[in-house]
Amino acid sequence: MDFNLLSETLFPDITATPEDIEKRFPKRNLPAGACVTRIGPSPTGFVHLGNLYNAVIAERLAHQSGGVFYLRIEDTDNKREVEGAVETVINSMAYFGVHFDEGATTDGDSGDYAPYRQRQRKEIYQVFAKYLVQHGKAYPCFLTAEEIDEIREQQTASKENPGIYGKYAEKSRGLTIEQIKGNIKQGLPWVLRYRGEETNEYISVDDAVRGKLEMPRNNMDFVLLKSDGIPTYHFAHVIDDHFMRSTHVIRGEEWISSLPMHVELFNILGWDMPVYCHTATLMKMDGTSKRKLSKRKDPELALSYYQQEGISQDAVWEFLLTILNSNYEEWRIANPDMPYTDFPYSLDKMSISGALVDLDKLRDISKNVICHMTAETVFSKWLDWCDIYNQEFAELIRKYPEKTLSALNVGKGGNKPRKDIETWKQACSFMSFYYDETFEIQDDMSAECNDETRKIFFAKYLESYNHDDDSSAWFAKVREITAEMGFAVKPKDYKKNPEMYKGSIVNITNMLRIALTGRANAPDIWEVSHVIGEETVRKRLEKWI
Ligand code: GLU
Repeated sequence: MDFNLLSETLFPDITATPEDIEKRFPKRNLPAGACVTRIGPSPTGFVHLGNLYNAVIAERLAHQSGGVFYLRIEDTDNKREVEGAVETVINSMAYFGVHFDEGATTDGDSGDYAPYRQRQRKEIYQVFAKYLVQHGKAYPCFLTAEEIDEIREQQTASKENPGIYGKYAEKSRGLTIEQIKGNIKQGLPWVLRYRGEETNEYISVDDAVRGKLEMPRNNMDFVLLKSDGIPTYHFAHVIDDHFMRSTHVIRGEEWISSLPMHVELFNILGWDMPVYCHTATLMKMDGTSKRKLSKRKDPELALSYYQQEGISQDAVWEFLLTILNSNYEEWRIANPDMPYTDFPYSLDKMSISGALVDLDKLRDISKNVICHMTAETVFSKWLDWCDIYNQEFAELIRKYPEKTLSALNVGKGGNKPRKDIETWKQACSFMSFYYDETFEIQDDMSAECNDETRKIFFAKYLESYNHDDDSSAWFAKVREITAEMGFAVKPKDYKKNPEMYKGSIVNITNMLRIALTGRANAPDIWEVSHVIGEETVRKRLEKWI
């Protein structure tokens, strides 16, 4: 077979050479040790927590080493592509504060290694497809889907490995150049296959997360280009990560089984392999056992879930870092106020036994993260979220910016700041009592405070109320009224001799808190009163008289 003639027959329009491509995408000029990393999401319309999980690792490795982090759109599978899906990926990464130095953006591609969308790199792949054909390492295959099914059935029946290799490849490998030309002339579809070698060798790859991976060397005639001339993931991965000069490939462990194909291609093309980092699958607890997160059953697998729930981007990062590096939590406790970018992220502290996604833990982390933010930061992040997901609330915040800001400051000082806000969505319900428009009584007052008690109490309270009292003067008055009404001023007195009192001061403050905030569980009454203002205090309490 004249491989040159074959390569010209298959790729008559490809004139560039591998050297041209090498020149077009030169090695990056970066200091030693700088990592070049990427994520390569497929635009399916569904952005996965796993995409962000790998993005966090890749971003940290690149940026903490003074390297480059880029976004490549892996759109080789047009069956899975959904309108607008590229924007969805880009926007959700932006929402979570993932900063790319290069790659696909909503305004096109940016960076010296463009294009960053695989379909636009068709010619680049074909240069190497042509090169492999020229060197007898790839050939066209005209097997139909039916023929491939038949082969698979035969292999299943005889318990052989599935795939095109050895005797199963003979039919396609044995075609003469005339037959190939004839088939092409007839318009028969073909794919380009790699010419695998029969081998008993093993390969060994040092995975930065898992250590040494040993596996049988590839012996398959796997597909390089599909019938539309677009590469498979395997071929595109090798070409792109070589020419975009990635130093580390961070991807899910589901790709480990394809590693022999990738190793084969790097070797045959004479290129150095990147460092592979195969990350653990995201899992959750289901009863007492762990299972993989499922797209069908678990809404938390979609990144959109975190956006809709209004979980702050900082909390999601914090949460992912906690899952990703076993020493992160300890570091966070020792450094509560440092930005997470100061944490020295390392690949060897990663778990390989499955990363556990625990939403209760996320909520806990989120409360902590938000309680460490200034009121101004909470204000602006919450408002950004409301602008998209709760416009009515956004309007309220804009209508009462000062009140909102002082409300967000309630309970902030001191060494045990309140942790009332968990998510931006929950902030809307938590904060609703500050605004007349959304205020409602949600909880019942205790049985100790019947109608009559309420009337008497609120009348006395309003009579003695002076909005200018400081917190201790205010509380002294509350205690005085409590005693006058026959309630115990000290809860422990009531506990000791319940028959001597109508109830305790706890019942009284609870009643006051519910009247002012609508709920039994709310921040300090004196502070709340000063946020909502005297007029509102009086109005809310007069209703009970
Ligand atoms: N497109 C691949 C995926 O979505 C990316 C894998 C990789 O990062 O190489 O799984």
